[in-house]
Amino acid sequence: MTPVVKGRNRKAAIGVSMGMNRRTLLLSAGALMVSGAACSAAGDEPESDANEARFAGSSWRRMTDAQWRERLSAPAYQVLRREGTERPGTSPLLEEHRAGAFVCAGCALPLFRSEWKYASGTGWPSFYQILAENHGTKTDHLIGYPRTEYHCARCLGHQGHVFNDGPRPTGLRYCNNGVALQFVPA
Ligand SMILES: [Zn+2]
Repeated sequence: MTPVVKGRNRKAAIGVSMGMNRRTLLLSAGALMVSGAACSAAGDEPESDANEARFAGSSWRRMTDAQWRERLSAPAYQVLRREGTERPGTSPLLEEHRAGAFVCAGCALPLFRSEWKYASGTGWPSFYQILAENHGTKTDHLIGYPRTEYHCARCLGHQGHVFNDGPRPTGLRYCNNGVALQFVPA
């Protein structure tokens, strides 16, 4: 089993406190990339802490691990609460093309609008934009190079990673585990 990484990694936030602007931060992150890595990580977002703080009093934050296990399916628990990754090509949401919202499968907080979804060809539901106020980010090194992890700002459930190789207009690719989302038709 992969060891669980707890706590929030604030490496990028250190860069901000040192007076680096966002562009410098992104360039620095790019320079650290190992040649041949599949994707480069997008920069950490300073508003992440504020988003998470907004939900600090939420009852979702008081859920115990046992309660999450009971509430979620085993695959959803592994992704949302253990930062697991679903097998690519397995999510029914890959074929979800109706208008509506994609919400956190942990606590139902809206994260994506259907118009931001696109076919990335990766086997994971992909979006070029996220509802900015409802997500948090951190940097992880789980596979040997820095990636920007993002999660629900309310229940802190892991959703996926964001990369800089997305389409216009943002150039971002939110690579999401389908099992961590639920679709709500408009
Ligand atoms: Zn949530």
